[in-house]
This record gives sequence, C-alpha cells and structure tokens, in this order.
Amino acid sequence: MRQDQAAPGSKSQSVNLSNAHPTVADILGGKGGEVFSITPTETLGRAVEELRDRRIGALVVTDGAGKLAGILSERDIVRKLAETPGQTLPQQVGDVMTRKVVTCAPDDPLLSVLKRMTAGRFRHMPVVEGEGEELIGVVTIGDVIHHRLTQLEHEALQLKQLIVG
Ligand code: AMP
Repeated sequence: MRQDQAAPGSKSQSVNLSNAHPTVADILGGKGGEVFSITPTETLGRAVEELRDRRIGALVVTDGAGKLAGILSERDIVRKLAETPGQTLPQQVGDVMTRKVVTCAPDDPLLSVLKRMTAGRFRHMPVVEGEGEELIGVVTIGDVIHHRLTQLEHEALQLKQLIVG
C-alpha cells in the first residue's frame, strides 16, 4: 500500500509533517509586522541611535507619506564612516541609503526570499502588500534561517516518534 493510501489512523497518516511551503506570512505571524523606519532628512547620528535602541541591523526609509523610499543598513553606515571619517554622523540618511529596494510579498515562498537575499548580498527585505505597496513588515535572513531550522527540528522529532512508536 502506498503511503498516501494508508488506512485511516495508521501511523503514516498520523505523521503531520510541517508546512512544506512556508511563506513570508508564516514569519510575520510569529514576529509581527512592526516596521522600524526613518525619513531621508534625518541624520545618520539619529539612525545609529535607532539601530542601537531597537537592536536591529537596518532601517526602512519612508517619505512623508509613509511610502518606501530606501533602506539603510549598518553596512551603509560603516562604509560612510570609512569614506568620511569624523564627518559621518551629521550626514542625511537620504544621501547614504540604498534607493532601489528589493521587496517581497506576504505570500512569497521563503525559499525564493532566501535566494533573492543571497543573490543580492543583503540580509533584510521589507514586506509590502497590495497595489499601494503598503509596508507590513520586514524579514531578515536570520528570521528565514531560524524558521527553517525550527521546521527541520520539528520534522526530525516527528520522524523519531514514528520510528520509536
Ligand atoms: P544588509 O546585508 O541588509 O545589511 O545590507 C547590505 C547592503 O544591501 C546595504 O547597502 C543595504 O542598504 C542594501 N540592502 C539591504 N536590504 C536591501 C534590500 N531589500 N534591497 C536592496 N538593497 C538592500
């Protein structure tokens, strides 16, 4: 008998392997949709305070209307510190941020997000929804790896239970 034809209540049916195709929404469901943002006219000094206080590695940059205008990560600030020693913190976020931001949607598979982050060599991705591209969260490469590790642990436990009985 094939596994997908097993009798109701048999062991093979009782194994409920975790969601095989997790999406960005699965991560936001766990961590919430808080977006830490800054505006282009604020200073890098303000940005580093925000990064420190929030214990995060990047800020989403939004314009006055709350629309996505860029992203500023600790890497951008480190680069600027090397380029303009002693003159970095008063500079404006808008002059240092990355303007062309790669975003994802809540129903994007985590694997595709991971691939885009790896290919683009960045670790943060704002999540936008709908035609208005409303910002509904940020996922990091750490979130994606953590989710996958948890899923693998869960699957290993289920398989162990199946074998041990
Ligand atoms: P990170 O690895 O996220 O600290 O960022 C490394 C570089 O990529 C920095 O210059 C960021 O401004 C930029 N960056 C971060 N996230 C994104 C993104 N989602 N789309 C485009 N660039 C990004």
